[in-house]
Amino acid sequence: MSSARVMCSVPLTLQSAACPLCGSPSADLFLAAPDRYHWRSEVYRMLRCSGCCCVWTADPPAPKNMAFHYGEDYHRAIRAGGERDAAARWKVPRRTIARYKKSGCILDIGCSSGGFLKTMNGWSLHGIELDPKTAERARMNVSGDIFVGNALEAPFAQDTFDVITCFDVLEHFYEPLELVRKIATWLKPGGVFYMRVPNVASWEARLLRSYWFGLELPRHLFHFSPSAVRNLMRSTGMEELSLTAKGTYIEPSVAYLRTRLVERLGFTPVPLVAAPEPGIAWKAVRKCIRALVLEPFGGIAGMAGAGACLDALFRKPGPSGTPGRAGFTGDAPVTSDGEGV
Ligand SMILES: [Zn+2]
Repeated sequence: MSSARVMCSVPLTLQSAACPLCGSPSADLFLAAPDRYHWRSEVYRMLRCSGCCCVWTADPPAPKNMAFHYGEDYHRAIRAGGERDAAARWKVPRRTIARYKKSGCILDIGCSSGGFLKTMNGWSLHGIELDPKTAERARMNVSGDIFVGNALEAPFAQDTFDVITCFDVLEHFYEPLELVRKIATWLKPGGVFYMRVPNVASWEARLLRSYWFGLELPRHLFHFSPSAVRNLMRSTGMEELSLTAKGTYIEPSVAYLRTRLVERLGFTPVPLVAAPEPGIAWKAVRKCIRALVLEPFGGIAGMAGAGACLDALFRKPGPSGTPGRAGFTGDAPVTSDGEGV
């Protein structure tokens, strides 16, 4: 955490069994799992709110200790992922945004090294990145404004952006409700918020349990389902444009199972974070497995609304739209995951 004003203790809302988003006192143990990405032994508990479906990591590391749970290897992997084949990787998000907005002022929260922003030609570009080293790289890649630090402290004025994106980021926040309230403020009336988070209600998450890659403990502090996203966003008064659940994390999840097998056989496993780049032969085999098994599985899961990645678009009501609500005090929350996805 680079900002001096960032709290160094876990927010009170995450230290109790009450839901950090809706305040409901009724929560059950959802799952317990370690950090399989670094292959560490400490186990973290996740609780699930029976009111708004939110799942959160109970008693996570304090912000001042979180750097240890990311590490330079993690940041390097994320930067590489965002920059590799950027034009192709970000084609679908670009096309999705173009359905609603053709140009204007865009903010990417958690912009990493600017892989996505760099592809948004013709837009006024703004990014937020917490890691100073990664932000430095974003400044080199993107001709725009990059804020370095905690998004909650970014100094943007009300009604500034036409589009705000947040890809695989909201689940890392200690206070996602505060962030979406900020987003609702920063958007112009009629502006679009586009978020992507892992779907904890996906088929593969249910099947693989603690081995599911999307858990990313303890870096993921919240674990969203379609119902939880709807309840969270509805609390800001934003209107749903679309919510889909496609894609798969089967490949890295299987790597976790393989690592566990290596360990059970008495060998020292290489954690995914330190896995070497695969050779050409293995890349070819992997390409076949993707085409024959993973893509069909991901496609079927997506058609059933049970894929691993939730893509959600919401719009801030225009001047004549419904005024925003201040909290989880409006309509009854959605409590059935997967419905209508
Ligand atoms: Zn709740």
